[in-house]
Amino acid sequence: MNTTQHLHGKRGIELLHDPLLNKGTAFAEAERDALGLRGLLPPRVATQDQQLERVLENFRRKTSDLEKYIYLISLQERNEALFYRLVMGNLEEMMPIIYTPTVGLACQKYGHIFRRPRGLYVTSKDRGRVKEILQNWPQSDVRIIVVTDGERILGLGDLGANGMGIPVGKLSLYTACAGIPPAQCLPIMFDVGTNNPTLLADPLYLGLAEPRLRGPAYDELVEEFVNAVQEIFPRACLQFEDFGNCNAFRLLAKYRDRVCTFNDDIQGTAGVTLSGLLSSERLTGIPLAKQRILFLGAGEAGIGIGELIVEALKLSGVPEADARRQCWFFDSKSLVVKSRTDLAEHKLRFAHEHSPVDTLLAAIEELKPTALIGVSGTAQSFTEPVVRAMGRLNPRPVIFALSNPTSKAECTAEQAYTWTDGHAIFASGSPFPPVTLNGITHVSGQGNNSYIFPGVGLGVIASESTRVTDEMFYVAAKTLASLVTEGDLMLGRIYPDLKRIREVSTEIAVHVAEVAFKRQLTPALRPADLKAHVQSVMFDPHYPKYV
Ligand code: NAD
Repeated sequence: MNTTQHLHGKRGIELLHDPLLNKGTAFAEAERDALGLRGLLPPRVATQDQQLERVLENFRRKTSDLEKYIYLISLQERNEALFYRLVMGNLEEMMPIIYTPTVGLACQKYGHIFRRPRGLYVTSKDRGRVKEILQNWPQSDVRIIVVTDGERILGLGDLGANGMGIPVGKLSLYTACAGIPPAQCLPIMFDVGTNNPTLLADPLYLGLAEPRLRGPAYDELVEEFVNAVQEIFPRACLQFEDFGNCNAFRLLAKYRDRVCTFNDDIQGTAGVTLSGLLSSERLTGIPLAKQRILFLGAGEAGIGIGELIVEALKLSGVPEADARRQCWFFDSKSLVVKSRTDLAEHKLRFAHEHSPVDTLLAAIEELKPTALIGVSGTAQSFTEPVVRAMGRLNPRPVIFALSNPTSKAECTAEQAYTWTDGHAIFASGSPFPPVTLNGITHVSGQGNNSYIFPGVGLGVIASESTRVTDEMFYVAAKTLASLVTEGDLMLGRIYPDLKRIREVSTEIAVHVAEVAFKRQLTPALRPADLKAHVQSVMFDPHYPKYV
């Protein structure tokens, strides 16, 4: 196949410096002649497999995770196809580097490890010229934008413009897990300042060194940005990521019915957690409709999960009021109950009639939950008495410690299994190694959003959906749960093996696209073979022949 038309006239050194087109030493003899590459490369032509061997060797030689991160990012900057073959072929090893937990560390040190810019920066200084900035992006067919204002990076708080590592990492997962072509992905840092004193005092900090923009000026800038995206990239899905919860809920409510958008911290987390709960049914024998779920943390993740559980229960015939009473929240102060006068808007719908309860342990004793979900960003808050109480109240307690990165997890896998004599059904946000207890090895699940959002994004792109709905996250959760095998469950794992992520994302995309067609959210016609259509838009990291 002759694909030189995709090179946009690029030749020679310009071609070698374009990471989307570069093949490095794998340029064939004929390509070297035809494309002005002769002499610019060492003479021996390598295969992509040989290159893979070299980059894997280099990667494994790095002695710290941060060094591994820097190595992978620099490979991505040189040669995207090789980067994705490396990541896709070794996902379990690479995912904790390109995403949580290592990406958290990389964000904390972003200004210090910075090499080359990646993605777009829109700042509070850009009022009135956001459209021009978007026009500077070299790709025109953008389909997924991940934007953050860096206010709540993982569980690490306000990292300002250093948060750029998150959209970059998330988009890498869109490609690695669901095959969304890298040229269609755009990471954006919405830099409106930071209130982090350490960053403000750091001379190497790369963002606007001023306090965060708030109030109407912030909202007007977001409005200009959203409108500019509609105009410049009309086919793009806009994913909001790691915004502080004072903005995240509001922005989602404001834009979800107007443009193609979602918030992964709220909706993606909800999808993966609901899926974990659905899979747990197969181990506990207790259907979702009979579960009582207690959350530690009532922010974006917690409330998002609660709302999707309510949606799922409603769809299975449970009245909404009853569905809400199955979900209880304990925030940084106490149990979320009706009599409290200090509750933020997003907590009110889960504020039930109950006397005040001041400790998590007391709440467990009172409510007798079947599942305990940690989304508080508070390390070690599932103490031994808390976990033991769950074990005493339930033959198979469901315990999810979802806070990221690993250092923020509410408890470790080892603690959860040890304190429940191996009976816990455990999942965490960042991965934990398997735990062997009394001769039995328990493999915990990683309740990682990357099981959900790449497939949802792929389904939205493939169907050309103009909206992203809660029903899509519900079907994504159900599809993911349906792919958990008996073998997974026997190991204690409530999510499929990560090695199957492309298959998982494809299946989710098909079901999400089906919702788009069924609900008439797209101007496109439903292809006869939807799965084949989804597969046809997926990126293949093997090199094409240019000549
Ligand atoms: P958020 O800031 O919106 O909410 C945090 C909530 O925790 C708030 O309600 C706060 O009041 C509460 N909280 C803080 N300290 C507490 C304490 N000591 N005890 C009880 N509650 C406390 O943040 P979020 O987006 O909801 O994220 C929370 C955590 O969940 C983060 O660590 C994040 O990394 C993690 N998370 C994990 C996943 C995943 O693994 N799938 C997805 C999203 C978020």
